Amino acid sequence: MTVPKEYIPHEIEPKWKKTWDMSMYHFDWNDSTRPQYIIDTPPPYPTGNFHIGNSLNWCYIDFVARYKRMCGYNVMFPQGWDCHGLPTEVKVEEIHGITKNAVPREEFRRMCRELTRGNIEKMRETMLNLGFSTDWSNEFVTMEPEYYSKTQRSFRKMYDMGRVYQAEHPVNWCPRCETAIAFAEVEYEARDTKLNFLNFDKVKIATTRPELLAACVAVAINPEDERYSGHVGSSVKVPIFGHEVPVIGDKEVDPAFGTGVVMICTFGDKQDVRWWMEHELPLRKAIDKNGLMTSIAGKYEGMTIPECKDAIIRDLEAEGYLFEQKTLDQNVGMCWRCDTPIEILSERQWFVKIDTDAVAEAAEEVKWLPEYMKVRLENWIGTMEWDWCISRQRLFATPIPVWYCKECGETVVAKEEWMPIDPTQQQPPVACSCGCKDFEAEEDVLDTWMDSSITALHVSGWLSDHEMRLPTQLRPQGHDIIRTWAFYSLLRSMALTGKRPWDSILINGMVLGEDGHKMSKSLGNVISPEEVIKDYSADAFRQWAAIGGSPGSDVMFRWKDVVSASRYFTKTWSIYRFAMSHLEDYEHAEMDINELKVVDRWLLSNLNRLIRSVTDSMDDYQFDEAFKAIRGFTWDIFADNYIELIKARLYGDDEEAKKAAKYTLFVTMESLAKMLAPFAPFFSEEMFSRLGEGSVHVQSWPDVREELIDQEIELSGDFIKDVASNVRRYKSEKGMALNTALEKIEIYGVSMDTSDLTGVTNSPIEMIEGEPDFEHVPVNVKPNMGKIGPLFRGKAKAIIDALADENPRKIADEVAKGKITVNVDGELVELEPDHVEIEKEVVSAGRSVDVLDVSGVPVVIVR
Ligand SMILES: [Zn+2]
Ligand SMILES: [Zn+2]
Repeated sequence: MTVPKEYIPHEIEPKWKKTWDMSMYHFDWNDSTRPQYIIDTPPPYPTGNFHIGNSLNWCYIDFVARYKRMCGYNVMFPQGWDCHGLPTEVKVEEIHGITKNAVPREEFRRMCRELTRGNIEKMRETMLNLGFSTDWSNEFVTMEPEYYSKTQRSFRKMYDMGRVYQAEHPVNWCPRCETAIAFAEVEYEARDTKLNFLNFDKVKIATTRPELLAACVAVAINPEDERYSGHVGSSVKVPIFGHEVPVIGDKEVDPAFGTGVVMICTFGDKQDVRWWMEHELPLRKAIDKNGLMTSIAGKYEGMTIPECKDAIIRDLEAEGYLFEQKTLDQNVGMCWRCDTPIEILSERQWFVKIDTDAVAEAAEEVKWLPEYMKVRLENWIGTMEWDWCISRQRLFATPIPVWYCKECGETVVAKEEWMPIDPTQQQPPVACSCGCKDFEAEEDVLDTWMDSSITALHVSGWLSDHEMRLPTQLRPQGHDIIRTWAFYSLLRSMALTGKRPWDSILINGMVLGEDGHKMSKSLGNVISPEEVIKDYSADAFRQWAAIGGSPGSDVMFRWKDVVSASRYFTKTWSIYRFAMSHLEDYEHAEMDINELKVVDRWLLSNLNRLIRSVTDSMDDYQFDEAFKAIRGFTWDIFADNYIELIKARLYGDDEEAKKAAKYTLFVTMESLAKMLAPFAPFFSEEMFSRLGEGSVHVQSWPDVREELIDQEIELSGDFIKDVASNVRRYKSEKGMALNTALEKIEIYGVSMDTSDLTGVTNSPIEMIEGEPDFEHVPVNVKPNMGKIGPLFRGKAKAIIDALADENPRKIADEVAKGKITVNVDGELVELEPDHVEIEKEVVSAGRSVDVLDVSGVPVVIVR
């Protein structure tokens, strides 16, 4: 059982990665004895790069999974992959140099799947390198039939409930992605824009969207605005296009904005949609799905939106309609995937009816960590106005299982038993109610959030042969997807099962670069976890994740944290190596407390206090607190003090005392290995491999032994530790070697077992009752040259010689009386008390001693 001198992570980590039987992390569906702990792990988007932000979140998940497993839970830490979506389509187009319509639909989808599979493998490798205890028997891939058939079945179920419906309704549209998107996917950005003031027939209006003049359907004013009191009910002619639109009154119009008159277009923004619905205005579509102007835009037809805007402003100016422009700060809705300004178009789409009350209620039942993150969801719920648009005009996604009868137009939604199904590849196996067998497939596909919002249901066994185990216990996720993933998951779980999806939701922050900014390629501050593993180790990366901050807060990546993490392992390894060299023939057996020395009990008391605090921190997901406590104990108590205090005992020949030290060493090393296991799976496994049977990852979390926590013992131990360090400092100040034997050390007024103190100081220790008797004996007189020199000039040297001949006690007495008289070559010279300095020596029981004050207790060193 030799322990190598150095801990080399680049040998140890791959070794365990290869050796571990990952089935030790599998969830047991048939176990009803242990409580379940199911984690609704986020399914990352398979970009091929498992980045540092993912890694931080997964470290948190792994800390929890490993900890809960050791605490006796039947843990499921599944891994999913949220495959569908635009980025993969774009990548495929790029790789193959094609556009999505250049190849048959199914061929394009096949290319997407192929790319995705390769990307998943790359990301899986990083996950394995980081030592995550993933349960690969519960892996799911949303693009595979096994998973997306559940998405389709959920669609059918909600359709039957009336919660999924199709309608023509204004939706957010990304002209670049060429698809509808949900409100949750619109991000608002502050931008500068121009407010244009136009002569609009008999009124003047102000608008930021002159390119939508063709889509103008009304002009609105506030009915209380006296300036325009006579206009409501009349009509005005739209500049350039010439169509007449009504002037309507609406209290929502702000008289203080612009001219107090606004034009309503279909659709410039969400407010236009509200007015359009309320006043039942007609629909004029000026922008098509590709973001180009339609035929109603007349000569501007075919232009892009910015092109049209420029052209129309030029024309308005030339024809005298435009009389003023002002710069305006505006919040512009952007597509969250591609950062293109979104448009609002009215389209026939599929929607999920939103029941905000059910979501709010479920959110209330869930424990939010940290608590304040719940507010973000509540705020989002407060802004909901429209239902969730779930249809997308893309290819690589779960097909909407619907056909339309070519004869009568009836909508046929696939039955659950036909699923998985792609309506563009297969016809329904039955005829339409009209008898027709000819159908047109729905070509739209589902929003990817439709896939990912049922992960909790999927992992807990919904629609499987297993008994359903909802709610899961934990949903870990980022705060940027609270209004999407968290919101939709709550909505879908309530709709489909009536149950909340999770007991708790743990929100992680973002990783910032060393410069404090969000990591981005353009800033050049991106760090990959693989880089950290290569330069240091996976365990060091994980330690950074643990101590970098508490969950919920943004965490800065700092190399110096990784360096100090790696130093921690080096130090712990050296203690481990030392301990193991003394534990070679050790056979572990419980020992009676009374057989242990004070110092052992001191360590064990501190150790159990540590176990208690680490357990509490882990239960509260405060990983930084947990790890900092472990680190403090290892360095300050165990390495720097305990080991030093027991060395003499370990090398001595008192077998009983030696046994107690070995027992304590073993128990401490074993507990440390177990407490390190969630954080540093490789290092702890290497430690444990010489301490016990099997993997550390199937061991139980250490129990707190309350009977060993003893405050009095801790005080005694602290005192011994303090005496030892004071004596060590004393010797070094006196230039003595640390193992120099002192004649004797006397400790007054306390009584305890001092054998380890004798060992560590290499000096006899005596405990003495009561207080020591000190006398301060003058031993030397030091002349104050600064005073004597200038005052006595030529005589100064003679005075100094005379002082040296005097008895120091006599001079000291005279100083006390205020006048010193010295005989200088027969002449009596008077000196002031401040002309000399009296050096005294402490004498106790007639011996010269040095006195150390250790927490108020006199420790007397006899020289
Ligand atoms: Zn987009
Ligand atoms: Zn029909």
